[in-house]
Amino acid sequence: LAKLLEVPNDHLLRKMANIGMDKLANNYLLTNEEAAEIALEYEVVPIIPEDSGPDLLPRPIPEDMSLHPTRPPVVTIMGHVDHGKTTLLDTLRNSTITASEAGGITQHIGAFSVELKDGNHITFLDTPGHAAFSAMRARGANATDIVVLVVAVDDGVMPQTKEAIQHALDADVPIIVAINKCDKPGADPQHIQEELLQYGIQTEGMGGDIQSVEISALKGTGVDELAENIATLAEVLDLRAEVDIPVQATVIESQVERGRGNVASMLIKRGTLNVGDIVVAGTAWCKVRSMTDDHGRPVKSASPATAVRVMGWKEIPLAGDMVLQAETESHAKDVVANRVEKRKNRDKLQTIGAMNEVRRETNERESSERAEEKAHRKAVWEYHHGIRSTMPDPLPRKNASDVSSSTPASEASSISVVPVVIKGDVSGTVEAVAGALKQLPDKKIRINVISTGVGPVTESDVVMAGSGTEGLIIAFNVKADKKTLTAAKREKVEVMSFRVIYKLLEDIEKLLTSRLEPLR
Ligand code: GDP
Repeated sequence: LAKLLEVPNDHLLRKMANIGMDKLANNYLLTNEEAAEIALEYEVVPIIPEDSGPDLLPRPIPEDMSLHPTRPPVVTIMGHVDHGKTTLLDTLRNSTITASEAGGITQHIGAFSVELKDGNHITFLDTPGHAAFSAMRARGANATDIVVLVVAVDDGVMPQTKEAIQHALDADVPIIVAINKCDKPGADPQHIQEELLQYGIQTEGMGGDIQSVEISALKGTGVDELAENIATLAEVLDLRAEVDIPVQATVIESQVERGRGNVASMLIKRGTLNVGDIVVAGTAWCKVRSMTDDHGRPVKSASPATAVRVMGWKEIPLAGDMVLQAETESHAKDVVANRVEKRKNRDKLQTIGAMNEVRRETNERESSERAEEKAHRKAVWEYHHGIRSTMPDPLPRKNASDVSSSTPASEASSISVVPVVIKGDVSGTVEAVAGALKQLPDKKIRINVISTGVGPVTESDVVMAGSGTEGLIIAFNVKADKKTLTAAKREKVEVMSFRVIYKLLEDIEKLLTSRLEPLR
C-alpha cells in the first residue's frame, strides 16, 4: 500500500497509528475498507470493487413486459390520524368475497387481498401508515403502486395529510383521494377538493386528473366505487410481473411465534414462491417449510403482488429487506456469511471514520490555538522591542469550561447522546419507530439507536441501554416483566411503552427537552 501511495513505509505506519490502526500485527491483511481509509488520509480516493464474494442480486427488469401476465395493484392507505384509515381497511377487508366463502379467520399478516366482482384482486398493505411507508422506502423497498389518501370531510387537510402527499410525490406513486366521513351531516366534499388544490392535488372535480371518491368508511358507502377506481387506475398503470423466474419479494413484517419459530410476512414482487424454496433476506435465510395466506389458510405457492406468511426462517429477517431466491442451501449460507462479513467491515469503517472526525477536529482546534499563541507571543516581543506601540490584549484564559463554550470543535462533545434500545411486537413497527426517531430535530441531545429487536423487553436490553449512561428503552406494543423493570430502575434506564407512533415522538421530544434543561 505504501508503494502504491508513494510514501515511505514508516510514514504509512505512523499514519495508521494516527487513525487508530496501531494495534494491527505485522502479518495483518488489511481489508478493502481499511486500505481505503488509509488512502483517504493521503487524499487518494480509492475505488472499492463492489463485487466481492458470493451474493444475490435482483435480475434486471426486462425491457418488454408486455409478454408477462398482469398482476394486482399494491395499495397503501395514508392520511391524518383519526381520518378513518383503520376503519376503511376493516371495511375493505370484510368486503372480500373469499373471506366468507372459505370461512377462514382474518389474519394480520401486513397485507390482505380483496377480490372484486369481476374476479380481479387488489392487495392492501396494512402496516402502520406513513412511518412504515418511509421506513420501507428508505431501505429501497418501494412496495406500493397506488396511495389512497384518506381525508376526513369534517377535518380537512391536516399535517399528516400533507406529509402523506409529500411521501407519495417523493416516491412518484399515484394518488387516489378518498374523502371520508361523508355520512356526517353538513359534509362538504367540494371544499376538501378545493383545499387539496393548494397542495398540488388537482382532482378530476377541479379539472385535474386525480380521482377522488366520496366515502363513508364506517357505513361502507362509496367503498366499492373506491375499489373500482383503484382497479381502473391499475389497468392504466399496466402492472405486470414475471411469474416463472426465481422469486423476489419484500419482507413486510417478521416475528417469533410460539410453536412456529421465526415467521415473516412477505409481499411477492416477481416470480413465484413455492414451499421448499430457499430464500435469503439480508443476513437471514429460509427453506420455506410452509406458507399461509391472509386468512390463515395453508398455500403451496404465492404469485406476484400477493402476501404470504412464511415459516422456516433460521433467523428473523427485517421489514423492508429484499428477499431473493438461492439455488441451494449451501448457496444461501455462503451469501449470508459473506454479507455478515461485509457488514462487519462496514461497521469497522464507520467507527474508524467517526474516530478520525474527532481526531481531525481536535487537531484543528489545537493548531489554531497554537497559532494564536504564537501570534500573541510575537506581538508581545514586538512591543518590548518597540516595533508596536501597544501591548496586545491578553489571550482569553483557558479553563475547561471556557474551551467548551468557545470553540466549535468541542461544542460537538457537549452534545449528549442518549443510547436507545427499541423493542416491538413486529419488526415492521420496530423499523418504523427507528425511522421515526431519526426525524426528531437534532438538538444538543441526540438519540443513538444501539439495538432493535422483536419481543418483550429483557434484562439484557437494560444492560445494553444502561452502563451508567441513562439510556432509554422504547417498548412498542410489548411488555417488560417486573424483574426487568427493577433492573431498569437500578441502572437508571427509562422504559417507555407506547401503542401509537405519534404519541411516541411527542413524548420522546418532551423527554429530551426535559433532560436538556439542566445544561452543564
Ligand atoms: P385512523 O386513525 O385514520 O386509523 O382512524 P380510525 O379508523 O381509527 O377512525 C377514527 C374515528 O373516526 C373512529 O372513531 C371511527 O369510528 C371514525 N370514523 C371512521 N370513518 C368514519 C366515517 O366514515 N364516518 C364517521 N361518522 N366516522 C368515521
